[in-house]
Amino acid sequence: MPIRIAERLNRISASVSSMGRQRARELREAGRDVISFTTGEPDMQTPPHVIEAAHRAMLEGDTKYTDPGGTPELIAAVRRKLQRENRITYSHPEVVISTGAKQVIFNALMSTVEPGVEVIVPAPYWVSYPDVTRLAGGTPVVIDCPAETGFKVTAEALERAITPRSRWLILNAPNNPSGSMYSRQELKALTDVLMRHPHVALITDDIYEHIRYDGREFVNAVQVEPALKERTLVVNGVSKAYAMTGWRIGYGAGPAELIKAMIKLQSQSTTNPSSVGQAAAIAALDGPYDTVARNTAIFEERRDLCVELLNRAPDVACHSPEGAFYAFASCAGLFGKRAPDGRRIADDADVVMYLLDAANVAVLPGSAYGVEGFFRISFALATEQLREGCERIVRACEQLN
Ligand code: PLP
Repeated sequence: MPIRIAERLNRISASVSSMGRQRARELREAGRDVISFTTGEPDMQTPPHVIEAAHRAMLEGDTKYTDPGGTPELIAAVRRKLQRENRITYSHPEVVISTGAKQVIFNALMSTVEPGVEVIVPAPYWVSYPDVTRLAGGTPVVIDCPAETGFKVTAEALERAITPRSRWLILNAPNNPSGSMYSRQELKALTDVLMRHPHVALITDDIYEHIRYDGREFVNAVQVEPALKERTLVVNGVSKAYAMTGWRIGYGAGPAELIKAMIKLQSQSTTNPSSVGQAAAIAALDGPYDTVARNTAIFEERRDLCVELLNRAPDVACHSPEGAFYAFASCAGLFGKRAPDGRRIADDADVVMYLLDAANVAVLPGSAYGVEGFFRISFALATEQLREGCERIVRACEQLN
C-alpha cells in the first residue's frame, strides 16, 4: 500500500464494542434478523427539555467555536454537579469538557503516559484503558479480578501491582462490563494503599454513576479519601445517565496542571467539543432529573428479566449486576461442547460466533474485556427484544451437547 500506517497503530485494536455494533448493523442490513446486545447506550430518547435547550442555543447563535476546554457556562454547571452530588469542590481551571468521557480518558493518558510508564487496570476493564495506554507508549498492568471477588480489585492485589513505574490506577464502578460497585469500606482499603504510594495517581471513571440498582449508594475514591483529590482525575459525562451518547459530551475534574495539559492536547485535535452539545449538557446537568430515575427503574426491571432468563441456559451462570446496564455471564461451562453442525466450542470467542450464527444474537466476548470465559450482554434495549434475544440464547445453549 502506498501509504504506510504508523507503528503505534499496531499496538491497539479497534474498539470491540463499536465494531460489534457495526457488524450487527451490517448483518441486519443484509437481511438477517439479528438482535444486537452489543450497544452500550440507553435506547431511550434524550429528555425533551435538553433537546429544546439545544434548539434554543442554535437559534441564538451558539454555533461557533468555544474555548478549547469548554464553555464557562458548562464548566460552571459541572462544578455545581460535582458539589451537589459528590460534595467535591473544583475551581474553573480544574475542569475540562471533552467530546465524550472517552476523549477525557484519551487526553489524560496521552498527556501523562510514555515509554516506561505503567497504568494499573483491574480486569474486567473497559477496552479503551489498555489500548490508549499502549497507544501512548506505556504498559498496562492488568490485575485479574475474578468472579469470586465480585470482579473487584482488592487492596492486596493492588499493593502487589504497584511498582516505581506505576503512574495511574484506573477504577470504574459501576463497572463496564461486570456491573460491580465498591462499598465505602472497599474503596477505603484501596485508597489506603494509594496513600502509601504518593507517585500513583487515580482515574475514577464514574460514567455509570446514576445507573445503579437496589438502592445502592454511589461513592468515588475522592469522597472516601479527600486527600487523594490532588492526584485524582474524576471522569464523567452525560452519555449514559441522560441518554445522550450521540451528543458526545464528557468532562474531567482534577489538578489544574493536568487539566491544562489535556486542554493543550485537545486544542490540537478536536479544538473544542460541539457548542450545541455543550448547551444541551448544561440543561441535562441542571435538571430536572425525573427521566434519569425513570430510565434507571426500567433498566432495573430489564436486569432482573435478563439475569433470570440467562440463568435458564444450561451451563451459563449470570450474577446480578449492581449498576450499569450489562450482564456479564459465565460461559466456561459450554467449553468442550459441540454444536449441531459439529463445531466444537473452545473459548468465549467461539460462543460469540455460535450465538451469532445459530441464534442471530450478537454479544461480546469476555476476553475482549480481559476476562476469558464470559460474554457481555447490554440490556439497554427494548424489553421485548431483550426477552426474545435471551430466549434465543437459552435455546441455542440447549442445542449444544
Ligand atoms: N467509560 C466507560 C466505562 C464506558 O463504558 C464508556 C462508554 O461505553 C465511556 C467511558 C465513554 O463514554 P462517552 O460516551 O462519554 O465517551
